[in-house]
Amino acid sequence: MSTVRELQVELGARAYPIRIGRGLLDDGAGLAARVPGRHALVVTDRNVAPHYLARVEAALAGKSFGKLVLPPGEQEKTLARFGDVMAALAALGASRDATVIALGGGVVGDLAGFAAACWMRGVGFVQLPTTLLAMVDSSVGGKTAVDLPQGKNLVGAFHQPSAVFADTATLDTLPGRELRAGLAEVVKYGAIADPVFFDWLEANAEALLARDPEALAEAIAVSCAHKAGIVARDETEQGERMLLNFGHTFGHAIETEQGYGGLLHGEAVAVGMVLAARLSADLGRAPWSDTARLATLLERLELPVALPPGLSGDALLARMKLDKKAVSGALRLILWSGLGRAEVASAVPEADIRAVLDA
Ligand code: ADP
Ligand code: ZN
Repeated sequence: MSTVRELQVELGARAYPIRIGRGLLDDGAGLAARVPGRHALVVTDRNVAPHYLARVEAALAGKSFGKLVLPPGEQEKTLARFGDVMAALAALGASRDATVIALGGGVVGDLAGFAAACWMRGVGFVQLPTTLLAMVDSSVGGKTAVDLPQGKNLVGAFHQPSAVFADTATLDTLPGRELRAGLAEVVKYGAIADPVFFDWLEANAEALLARDPEALAEAIAVSCAHKAGIVARDETEQGERMLLNFGHTFGHAIETEQGYGGLLHGEAVAVGMVLAARLSADLGRAPWSDTARLATLLERLELPVALPPGLSGDALLARMKLDKKAVSGALRLILWSGLGRAEVASAVPEADIRAVLDA
């Protein structure tokens, strides 16, 4: 195994490590140490299992463990699948000292995490993220959920993992489009919190696209450090954690309007960040030159930066008003103050949002 980077999410008695490195899935002892009880259930999907499940099973030798291999995709993040995880835990005879292990992307992590939050009112949970998006964002911070037909992540809980082990070698098999979508969330940290990292991303865009292992590990470590800090300071999203939704109100509107068949989450967030940055510049809050730099970097990372054709401004605005982050009808948006800074804005005039959607 090459260098392993380790960070800590500082949550007092619930503090947990994030390890990042190539070959971490081969560290069976490291994983077994996070499974203190008799029972473990590994939740994964059909794309991930053939590549990586055997190594996790090997680490669990001697335990009583089960596995649940789900069909892939956001459309599987349902209450019905949640029921399948409950049934698997019941079949295993899982007790209160059981551990649920999520091996996969954000879909598997959100679903398995919610199951861990609910089984016997909460059991241990380990995240083994295999997508860039899950490594830099969804596996850290304890947000778990399933979707309803009415909207994404409407049923869920905060339930922190006891460890996050990101084996960056798993990214070797990740489709390029999924990798690039994850890079959008990486850029987000530079945009809202870290101008020096933004410069670094500009200098390393080609290396990241080419999956240079050192560049990817560095990008993941810096992103996780930001996520870990924000989560430690604001676990339940009362303030600072909201800034991580930069680009997401626009992005979610695009995703739901397209019915999840269109842009990937990270791609929609790329478009959303550019729209939020333009809106901020229109409102005089962010320099136009920074907005241009953000769009240029995302374009160099081969991400979309404009609304896909065929979406109506009215429909998108209506979706934005229904966003979970809206408070009593008023549009709450994360606006940009230029490279490295963002702010929550609670009463953004609709006309200005329309202008950006129609431009
Ligand atoms: P995200 O992590 O972006 O929320 P998903 O959990 O839906 O997204 O994963 C994206 C897609 O990539 C799914 O089809 C999943 O099965 C697949 N996938 C996840 N990890 C890997 C991997 N390491 N290699 C190949 N395919 C993967
Ligand atoms: Zn996101």
